[in-house]
Amino acid sequence: MPRKLVVANWKMHGSLASNQQLLEAYIQTLKSLENVDVVVCVPYPYLAQAQSLLASSSIAWGAQNVSKDTLGAYTGEVSALMLRDFGAKYVIIGHSERATAYCESDENVATKFMQAKAHGLIPILCVGETLIEREAGMMEMVVAKQLDTIIQMYGAALFANAVIAYEPIWAIGSGLAATPDQAQSMHEFIRNRIASHDEDAANSLKILYGGSVNPQNAVQLFVMQNINGGLIGRCSLNAQEFEGICRAAN
Ligand code: PEP
Repeated sequence: MPRKLVVANWKMHGSLASNQQLLEAYIQTLKSLENVDVVVCVPYPYLAQAQSLLASSSIAWGAQNVSKDTLGAYTGEVSALMLRDFGAKYVIIGHSERATAYCESDENVATKFMQAKAHGLIPILCVGETLIEREAGMMEMVVAKQLDTIIQMYGAALFANAVIAYEPIWAIGSGLAATPDQAQSMHEFIRNRIASHDEDAANSLKILYGGSVNPQNAVQLFVMQNINGGLIGRCSLNAQEFEGICRAAN
């Protein structure tokens, strides 16, 4: 079984003081877990802090968004190269909170994915359906469209060694996680969809589940064959809960 990957998404939480406490607690509680890769995606201003506190640990860090452009007159944007300057290895792309609040289109998300890959970052592409779409049985169609936009614009080979996070929108922050079978079935669909274009890229992909993962449900999710780890929001803000999830993955 490939090593699991657990990614903390801090969203817009934290301060220099509280981050220091949380990162020090991560380092202490996770140092004995040798069979899981852990990443923390912090708000932009705290990348330097993550770099200085985590550089000598096995925990990697990243950001929660990236510009679709490389350099230039794009006020307020942050480029992939800038993230690299702070040692970031990963970047979350297309989180549903951005799609909803900032009208991010599938095309923009695809270009951000390409930018991340072009500059040596590992993109964590978020895909997933709303509750209405699931109840209408449209969840695979919705996720397929999100993947196909990237495939059509840049080719399926771009998925090589990338990460996809299946995050049903109804499960994010709701306390209602997808069942292991629901997640497994969508993860299988995602891998097959990419494999139908590029089998090597599909085999090199990690597919994470995100949406109300907690220390209690993590084991049942992570034992599923196609679930390669988790993207964790709320529970990543509590060192003990995050440790419980990482331990389940380990
Ligand atoms: C997320 O926002 O990526 C997420 C998975 O949040 P939560 O774990 O709080 O559902």
